[in-house]
Amino acid sequence: MRKQNAPVIVVGGGLGGVATAVTLGQQGMQVRLLEQSAEIAPIGYGVQIGPNVLPMLARLGLGEEVLQAAYLPDDILLLDARSGDTIFRIPLKGEAFERRFTAPYIAIHRVDLHEILLRACRKLPNVDLNQATTVTSYAQQGDTVQVRTADDRTISGSALIAADGLRSRLRAQLHPADIWRDTGYVAHRTIVPRDKAPSRMRDRRGVTMLTGAGFHVIYYPLRGGDEINMVGVFQVPAALEPADVEYGRHIAALTAGAVPEVQDVLGVLNMTRRWAIADREPVRRWHEGRVTLLGDAAHATLQSLAQGAGMALEDAVTLGELMVAHPDDPARAFAQFERKRFMRTARVVLESRALWPQFHAGGVEAEVRNAQWQERNAEDHYRCLDWLWNPKEERR
Ligand SMILES: Cc1cc2nc3c(=O)[nH]c(=O)nc-3n(C[C@H](O)[C@H](O)[C@H](O)COP(=O)(O)OP(=O)(O)OC[C@H]3O[C@@H](n4cnc5c(N)ncnc54)[C@H](O)[C@@H]3O)c2cc1C
Repeated sequence: MRKQNAPVIVVGGGLGGVATAVTLGQQGMQVRLLEQSAEIAPIGYGVQIGPNVLPMLARLGLGEEVLQAAYLPDDILLLDARSGDTIFRIPLKGEAFERRFTAPYIAIHRVDLHEILLRACRKLPNVDLNQATTVTSYAQQGDTVQVRTADDRTISGSALIAADGLRSRLRAQLHPADIWRDTGYVAHRTIVPRDKAPSRMRDRRGVTMLTGAGFHVIYYPLRGGDEINMVGVFQVPAALEPADVEYGRHIAALTAGAVPEVQDVLGVLNMTRRWAIADREPVRRWHEGRVTLLGDAAHATLQSLAQGAGMALEDAVTLGELMVAHPDDPARAFAQFERKRFMRTARVVLESRALWPQFHAGGVEAEVRNAQWQERNAEDHYRCLDWLWNPKEERR
């Protein structure tokens, strides 16, 4: 265990921040995690976790536990929301998949994943979890980083890792001109017990996505198949609020003519709470001296490849290993971290961005997309996803 008095400060108790606290804490570092919420309460819905991610969780000794809590979907099925035609199907099980990828593709309730990470954190006496602590800014001098909190406290540490999400305040301090990029789309999410879900949904055992002009819906089983996670993503004028009558009318018009499976999802979707769909421009210089960004704060992405949480978890493990390699030189670890992670995360952001209009195309564009994607077989998809699902350092 290394000698270290001032803790490493981690801001943000999301998946990225908590995983970072686990990885540093397991190496014997003093860690102080600061989360703005009154309780670091795991919230959320389902997340898909690509085969690139489970090996990361395994390095934290959590692979088996996560696998136990996960659902293993049979495939990713993309359907045309107007015709119901299959656009592509990517099998996630079977000999060809297993030959190419080292770990399974999983779907897991974010609460379960977060809980597993939080439990691992709580077992570490050198990790101090602080709730109701909103960080407003940082300053650094010599070997010390100080953060200011909304309730006027100053907390000192040896380094600062900002895992404060898409709307990161600490990124704003590092890159004042940079702002998240809103797409004009919003997501609504719901989880329903399987036996309460429409029968068409109960029959599908994979990740099913139906895509239309200006919207998509996606659903998949969780928790041994006992629950079904659903997401509806819609292009909505900025002025419309979910409580407005016009909001419902707008979504009804957007999805008019869609196959009954889309209406099934709409029938059970919670339309009161929504998430803005936004990403960040890939920007170099995540770090400044003893301060670095991590996770969405560094490289928030659209959901097209379902890899935002995956990238945050990869970040956490990579950064932890670099900090152990350079225990007295966080600035060096942070510079190497960015060098190791920038291109991969930028590619996730930019490929996700390029897929977005294709997923939401209409008219001739949708017909051409369908024709192009229908030409691809499973091996073609595996080859396209290889860089992502099978990163070089994970190949055995
Ligand atoms: C609809 C939708 C579906 C998604 N599906 C998937 C998927 O299938 N697979 C996948 O991999 N990813 C998915 N994602 C993306 C994924 O949720 C994020 O990329 C991931 O949660 C980022 O983790 P993070 O820890 O970096 O940030 P966050 O989870 O945003 O955590 C940031 C934390 O910082 C705290 N915080 C913020 N500001 C401060 C402050 N000033 N002081 C203290 N604390 C602060 C917040 O309260 C929060 O707890 C999806 C996202 C959405 C919106």
